[in-house]
Parts: sequence; structure tokens; C-alpha cells
Amino acid sequence: MNLNQHSAHPDSDPFELSAFSRGLYIGGAWRPAAGEGRIEVIDPSTEAVIAAVPDATLADAAAAVEAAASAAESWRETPPRKRSEILRRCFELMVERSETIARLISLENGKALRDARGEVAYAAEFFRWNAEEAVRISGEFGLAPAGGNRIVVDYQPIGICVLITPWNFPAAMATRKIAPALAAGCTVILKPASETPLTAYALAALYEEAGVPPGVVNVMTTSTPGPVIAATLADPRVRKLSFTGSTGVGRTLLAEAAKNVISCSMELGGNAPFIVFDDADIDAAIEGLMVAKMRNAGEACTAANRIYVQSGIHDAFAEKFTRRMAALRVGPGVDLDTECGPMITRRAMEKIERLVADAISRGARAVCGGRTLAGRGFFYPPTVLVDVAPASDMGCEEIFGPVAPLYRFESEAEVIAAANDTEYGLAAYIYSRDIGRGMRVASKVEAGMIALNRGLVSDPAAPFGGVKQSGLGREGGQHHGIAEFMEAKYIATSF
Ligand code: NAP
Repeated sequence: MNLNQHSAHPDSDPFELSAFSRGLYIGGAWRPAAGEGRIEVIDPSTEAVIAAVPDATLADAAAAVEAAASAAESWRETPPRKRSEILRRCFELMVERSETIARLISLENGKALRDARGEVAYAAEFFRWNAEEAVRISGEFGLAPAGGNRIVVDYQPIGICVLITPWNFPAAMATRKIAPALAAGCTVILKPASETPLTAYALAALYEEAGVPPGVVNVMTTSTPGPVIAATLADPRVRKLSFTGSTGVGRTLLAEAAKNVISCSMELGGNAPFIVFDDADIDAAIEGLMVAKMRNAGEACTAANRIYVQSGIHDAFAEKFTRRMAALRVGPGVDLDTECGPMITRRAMEKIERLVADAISRGARAVCGGRTLAGRGFFYPPTVLVDVAPASDMGCEEIFGPVAPLYRFESEAEVIAAANDTEYGLAAYIYSRDIGRGMRVASKVEAGMIALNRGLVSDPAAPFGGVKQSGLGREGGQHHGIAEFMEAKYIATSF
């Protein structure tokens, strides 16, 4: 299939999708999997099979660890400046190819092209940021309080890293891990999600062109992630697991990693509250909510999942917000005017149907949307629900779709208690003109990231991550992201 098939994009490279399904990328070579299996890639807008990628087996996983181990010594000894320049080249190539990568993301993930373009820009920034960080890794030196002993702390690359990523940001979730790992001097094995492997392979070709040596980045797709990842983690040379995905799979992987006491970074699910106080600028809050709810059609871990609006402005807010939601254009992600693409799979769409039906059965009203769209593709329309009962399933599960449930609240204390009544703690949004109140509420809401009078938190220069069952560790930020891929070595000496 040709990338130009969906709609006319005169300025993009007319290459074939088969270029991204050449094989597993192991040890700098494109190779078939040891078994015969293939994983089909589906366009969620049409339900058509657009490509098939190799299905890695245990033998392929062993080959990937071997390749990462062979490259480890020379990569960790590569001068930081050289590593930095290679990462910088990855950034430049990603920017050069951004339109093509964005269209590939749109095609296999379904997200609107404007969201895909935003993702590519964000994903590329991890290379630029970590190119800058690679040459700023320093140690510590001090005198022990009792005197005599000098304390030297050296930060060293942690070792071979296994990186597992989800389908909702196929480029950014990979570069958010690969860039700091490489900056720290580690070699990696990436297992992308089965729904969106083409972006991961397209980026692998780009790393190769940027000068990343063979074996430093290895990419393998598999339909049996359980046993294949368990086998890689069982190899004692693997010292790091960095996972982004659901809390359920994260728990399974933590147990698996415990067997060899492997360092884990976990970026897991969310259930973000979006709190609007009576004194908020309503238009600004709606603008922020459109981003926090509808970026990626709601398929984001940071997506506003529970929208709390104080009673004084609730009805006016609901009316204005519903008008904005109802006006969004739904369609295939690659179409230039689409604002809300399809869901990733039929299963994801059916989960949304179930959550909406549950809320309605408990008294909620759909003031726009609320029903799956007929025809091919996994389309669910932008939906606003009012009078949602707090005990509805969507109050404690990730909706992961374009459904906005509104809850009315009276007091600050009540909304803080409601916001914290979840096992998750990734992102939260607060709108108030009273900055004192905003900061007070921000300090009491249990979340790793707070957006105060903003609809977007993600920034490669800021530490991204959650508390409670939303995760362990941080990605990005000054030192935080890179520190996840380093180990402190203390040397005691005296002179
Ligand atoms: P998922 O089902 O947990 O899958 C994530 C990745 O784990 C995929 O590559 C998947 O492979 C793999 N996997 C599944 N079972 C595995 C196992 N037993 N062992 C090893 N790997 C396994 O999550 P998803 O549906 O792709 O992504 C959505 C979730 O990710 C949401 O919960 C969202 O909140 C979360 N997320 C979190 C962040 C964050 O930064 N906190 C960012 C984005 C998304 P297959 O595709 O082959 O099944």
C-alpha cells in the first residue's frame, strides 16, 4: 500500500509501507523472525490490513540480547560528545522526515494528522534534549563528615535495557526511552506495540542513518510478549526494564523483573481529574479541556477522565463545551481536516460503549454523541455526559476515548477528596484565577504532574511520571530521565 492512497499530499515521500516491514532490526541488520508468523497491521479507519511485520520468537529475543551485549562495551566507551552528535543527528533526521513519519503514525494508529505532527515534534525533542544532556553527566566528590574518607560518586550506564511501548504514541514513547538510554551509554531492545509497529521500524532505519552503531538499538515485534519478554529479562546481562502501558501489564512485568532484581521504570495508566472552579476563565478552561480531553481523540494516559465543574458555572460551562465537542470533525486520521480519528481497535471502541452504557444506566445524560458511528472503522463520536454518578465505571477506569463526563461539585475540600479517590495518580488539571488556591489544590491532589490553568503538561524538559499505581520513576526532565538509565558507583578513597 502506498502512503499517498488516503488523500493527496503532494509534498510527502511516496514510499511503500513495505519499507517498514522488512524484518526485525537486530544487530544493525534487517532479518526475518526465526518462526513463520507475521503480525498484521490494521488501519483503524478502514479495518483493512495494511502491512504485516515479523513475529519474534524466543530465539529472536536471545539474538537481540546478544546483539545488545556485543555493542555494549564500545557504546559505553564512546565519548559523550560523539554520542551526543549521533543523537543530534537523530533529531535532525526526524525533523526532516516529520511529515512522512506523522502520516505513518496517522495511518496505523488512526490519530488525526495534526495530532501526529505534534507527536513527531515532541518525539524528536527527546533526541535534541538528550543530545544536550549526554555531555552534562557528572559525578560527585566530597569529604566524609568524619574526615579521612573521600567520597567519589561515578554515574555509569546501567547496562542492557528492555524497552516496551504502547500504541497510543508510537514515536514519542519510544524516543522518550531510547534517547536517554543512548545518552547514558546503554544499548537497548525495543518491543513496540503490535498495533503500531511500523513507526518503530521507520525510526530504526533513521537511527541507522544517523550513525547509531549496529546492536545499540534493536527492535523486535512479537505477538507473544509474555514469554518473549520474560526470556529477555531472564538473561542476567539485562539490567533495566522501562515500560509504558497499562497498570495491569505493568504489575505483571514488575513481578517478572523481580526474579533477577532488575531496575524498573513504569509509566502506567491514568485517571486524570480536570477541576474547574467558579472563578476560572471559562473560555480558557474550555480551550484547555479540548486539549486535555481530545488530543489523540482521548487516547492518552494524561487525558482528562473526570471533569469536575463547580456548581456556580457548571451549566454555562457544559453548554459551551458541548458546542465545541459537537463541532469536531470525525474521520480517518490521515485526512487533513480530521479532528477526531478512530479508536485503535474494535475492542477499545466496545469498552467505550460499555462505559457510556453503564453511566447512562446510572442516570447520566448524553448531551452530544453517545453512540458508535455506523460503517467501517472504529469510530466513536465526541461525547459529553452530564449528571454522571460518581460511582459509574468510567469514574475509576480509563475511558481512553472522546467521552467527557461532567461532575458537579460545591467545595474545594469535596473536589480534592473526589480527585484523590482513585488508585491512579498521573496527571491532574486545575483551573482557577486564584493562583493561591490553584497552588494549594495542586499540592493536595495526588498526581505526579499538575497543569495549572493549562491543558497540556508534557514537555521533554520536565519530569513526566505518576504516583500511586500510575508508575515508578520519571522520563524526561533535567537529569531525571537519564538517571533512570544510570547506576551510581561510590568509590571510597583517602589521600
Ligand atoms: P498494554 O496493553 O499494557 O501494552 C503496552 C505494551 O506492553 C505493548 O507493547 C504490549 O504488547 C506489551 N505487553 C502486553 N502484555 C505484555 C506482557 N505480558 N509482557 C510484556 N509486554 C507485554 O497497553 P496499551 O493498551 O498498549 O496502552 C495503553 C495504556 O498505556 C493505557 O493504560 C495508558 O494509560 C498507558 N500509557 C501510559 C503512559 C505514561 O506515560 N504513563 C503513556 C502512554 C500510555 P502487544 O501490543 O504486543 O500486546
